[in-house]
Amino acid sequence: MKTRHARLAFATIFLSALCANASALAPYLDDTKPIEARVEDALSRMTLAEKIAMVHAQSKFSSPGIPRLGIPENWMSDGPHGIRSEVLWDKWDQAGWTNDACTAFPALTALAATWNPDMAKLYGESIGAEARYRNKNVLLGPGVNIYRTPLNGRNFEYMGEDPFLASRIVVPYIQGVQSNGVAACVKHYALNNQEVDRHKIDVRLGDRALYEIYLPAFRAAVQEGHAWAIMGSYNLYNGEHACHNATLLQKILRDEWHFDGVVVSDWGGTHDTRQAILNGLDMEFGTKTDGLTRNTPNAYDTYHLAQPYLALIKSGEVPASTLDAKVRNILRLAFRTTMNRDRPFGSFATPEHFAAARRIAEEGIVLLKNDERDGTRLLPIDPSKTKKILVVGENAIRMMTIGGGSSSLKAAREISPLDGLKAKVAGASSSRQGEQDAPPTITFVRGYTAGDKTPNQDSLAPTQNPAETRPAAELIAEAAASARDADIVIYIGGLNKNKQQDCEGSDRTTLDLPYDQNALITALARANKNLVIVLISGNAVSMPWVNEVPAIVQAWYLGSEAGNAIASILTGDTNPSGKLPFTFPAKLTDNGAHATNSYKPAGGIEEYKEGIFVGYRYAEKNAIKPLFAFGHGLSYTTFEYGAPTLDKPALANNPGDTLTVTIPIKNTSARRGAEVVQLYIGELAPNPAFPRPVKELKGFVKLDLAPGEQKTATFAITRDQLQYFDDKRHQWTATPGKFELLIGSASDDIRAKTSFDLK
Ligand code: BGC
Repeated sequence: MKTRHARLAFATIFLSALCANASALAPYLDDTKPIEARVEDALSRMTLAEKIAMVHAQSKFSSPGIPRLGIPENWMSDGPHGIRSEVLWDKWDQAGWTNDACTAFPALTALAATWNPDMAKLYGESIGAEARYRNKNVLLGPGVNIYRTPLNGRNFEYMGEDPFLASRIVVPYIQGVQSNGVAACVKHYALNNQEVDRHKIDVRLGDRALYEIYLPAFRAAVQEGHAWAIMGSYNLYNGEHACHNATLLQKILRDEWHFDGVVVSDWGGTHDTRQAILNGLDMEFGTKTDGLTRNTPNAYDTYHLAQPYLALIKSGEVPASTLDAKVRNILRLAFRTTMNRDRPFGSFATPEHFAAARRIAEEGIVLLKNDERDGTRLLPIDPSKTKKILVVGENAIRMMTIGGGSSSLKAAREISPLDGLKAKVAGASSSRQGEQDAPPTITFVRGYTAGDKTPNQDSLAPTQNPAETRPAAELIAEAAASARDADIVIYIGGLNKNKQQDCEGSDRTTLDLPYDQNALITALARANKNLVIVLISGNAVSMPWVNEVPAIVQAWYLGSEAGNAIASILTGDTNPSGKLPFTFPAKLTDNGAHATNSYKPAGGIEEYKEGIFVGYRYAEKNAIKPLFAFGHGLSYTTFEYGAPTLDKPALANNPGDTLTVTIPIKNTSARRGAEVVQLYIGELAPNPAFPRPVKELKGFVKLDLAPGEQKTATFAITRDQLQYFDDKRHQWTATPGKFELLIGSASDDIRAKTSFDLK
């Protein structure tokens, strides 16, 4: 009895102490209270000056909290491929920290090329943990601008040409990042589809193209990924800059999608005080710089949303309620990130993160071509059957994590393709101990050079300097002579994140490879028929030599583990399973934006005349055979597609009904492999007032199959996947009729077809 009384007394004292403590806690600090109540409480305690301070930057990458109330500052970081090294408070130069060398993850094109949402989740979780460890609460990424033209200098930071693919990849990326208590800031909203004159391009397009092509990935990011932040883009849309565009930010983002996070300007993307106040921008960054280099020192008080805003409120010209709306969004960000007591602590440059980067890289590499000759294929290379390997091309030794603009990284390590190949071959030969054969030799010759002194970003210099001054003819002659003497030649070239070669702030000027690479590849192909071409780029390039080479690999910018991943694919340790997230056109005018002559390499109104016919949608409408089609990617394995089965012949025209299609897929070879099974849907007799693409990607699944194994791919079809955007009624619509289901290994490799009715 005594002990029971004692226990009760103790419990009473403990509980009342807890209650006393809880009641002492201001409501905004009490995380048992609903977030909106905490927002209102914090807001009610703030002065006008504190509110104004919150809506604009205080340094290159931070904005103030409320020191008096213990509400932390916001610290942002690029994004989207790793955590950018620390720059100075008000300059783009390195701060000189020695603890900020990160894991460089593969570029987002490579992630999209995995066609694997699990890889996107892993990517998000890993990069989010790195951001968290570095005390960043907003990651400036991912980017989901649609690949409209292969000239866009920033395509490598995005997820390709298809809104469905980009949507499926962006959602888990965001969820992964935010599971760390770090906000993903999805960018660049919206219509930032080229870099040339990016502050001056004024995009005009119909609502069908806007809603069907350019917005879905952003919408998925908001409605399914629940992104806590979004970044406005530099360009204009209908005459208003996107960072303070009433249609994009108020009508679509807030009213239609119910976004409750913060709208952050791109760095230097704010141009008009009243529009910034009234049209939905919450936080202003980077004004008085061009976003990259030019800078007016410590101009933060003069930002549109700083003193000019305060003056307009004080004079009564704009209501103070506009400021409260912005601060509410920023407070919500704080409660979700910096003031979330349950968030993890993060981790940085760990073996697990390098392993994640490598897995994603390996899954993203695309085998474009691997022709059979005399009953064999060149890839995978068997080091035990090769004596002399020649590696040609500057990209084999060039650091690719530096350069390209704001996504440039100070990586804790970066394995070059040449080093990756050397390590792989040495490893392969040491595992053949006891055998007589010496390991193959690997020789490197430059072949071509960018001729630059190395890319320099945030005053970071690569550890090895690719400076080379010999003329192209000499380099080509040397490479061809060495090729004659080799068993196999591995060419590693492509673009390199230099200005106009996949870089923010500039576009490419041609679809062709730079630095005389076409002449070099042609010379190599003549010198040695065992030539493998590995292209590193975030963009499609033309390949006039395509029929002269037996094997081509698209390797993207792969980050820290680039060389290991490439070597693993080339030697067959990893069976390629990546698929192209965008079309490789044979020539520029095979692309809709260029065919309609509506890409403008200078500021001004730019009408997207190709409308919804972007990427493969344009090629298929016009029966143009691409060099390599959207969704294309080979394997060292063969897969057999069985016959598709529908669970019913028709779908009811209501959002709740589902039709299921299944198809057996079998690995018919002796090697394990993964196949991305792609589902496309086409409307057979569309309403002529609303022309539709021949077919559109509406589902995909990546199946990992052991030799001889068979699995079933299952796709659920709902009315959502059949709709088009009726721009006259401003409404998603599906008209009853017949729809064709096309299932295949690529957009141009359909293996099975069936159809059903929408009632
Ligand atoms: C880029 C953004 C980037 C920002 C901060 C801008 O120039 O467009 O993507 O996040 O700079 O570095």
